[in-house]
Amino acid sequence: MNKPLTIALSKGRIYKDTLPLLEAAGIRPVDDPVTSRKLILDTNLDHVKVVVIRATDVPTFVERGVADLGVAGKDVLMEHGGENLYEPLDLKIARCRMMTAGVVGAAEPEGRMRIATKYVRSAQNYFASLGQQVEIIKLYGAMELAPLVGLADRIVDLVETGNTLKANGLEPLEEIAQISSRLVVNKASMKMKSSQVKELIQLLAEAVEKRESEQS
Ligand code: AMP
Repeated sequence: MNKPLTIALSKGRIYKDTLPLLEAAGIRPVDDPVTSRKLILDTNLDHVKVVVIRATDVPTFVERGVADLGVAGKDVLMEHGGENLYEPLDLKIARCRMMTAGVVGAAEPEGRMRIATKYVRSAQNYFASLGQQVEIIKLYGAMELAPLVGLADRIVDLVETGNTLKANGLEPLEEIAQISSRLVVNKASMKMKSSQVKELIQLLAEAVEKRESEQS
């Protein structure tokens, strides 16, 4: 008998890029979260459900066991700092880099550097690892604006092509981390639903490998 399995995904890029991997593992949601507005999606398998939530909530759902598995960006996981989660598989989707950036050609400020970011914990850890005392200014969006209006000396943000930075007269400086989406699994589910969860991880791993070999 199959035990019930709940998979937490976030809308947008992660949902779109995870669907083909789930499909390869034999799981197909029967509703579209965009058109149906449903938050709990049935799938072709009676015992498997998909919940569609905010990206930053995925680690919480999985950590607390209301979802057995989930897909979350490494940036989200670094910020969350989860203890009750396994991270068994890099899905290699939504790839980008977490970087510091500043105004093109700007000199290092004297005194304590002001860093605007929504990635407070990651930024704190990064500058602490360098032994550098900085002031972190928490923002929820449009980080690129902060150095332009004198709110901060640098930002910490995700960079994919670099176009957003360039369009705002900023340049990438240091790489903090390579980011991609990861499969996360609740620790208890890994034990209690071991064979099902491990089989799903294996099928997803094969799908990632197949996609990578087709792309290269
Ligand atoms: P780009 O202009 O291609 O460098 O993209 C940068 C913008 O896209 C920034 O505002 C980022 O926050 C966002 N971004 C880039 N990659 C990702 C990703 N993998 N996940 C979420 N946001 C991203």
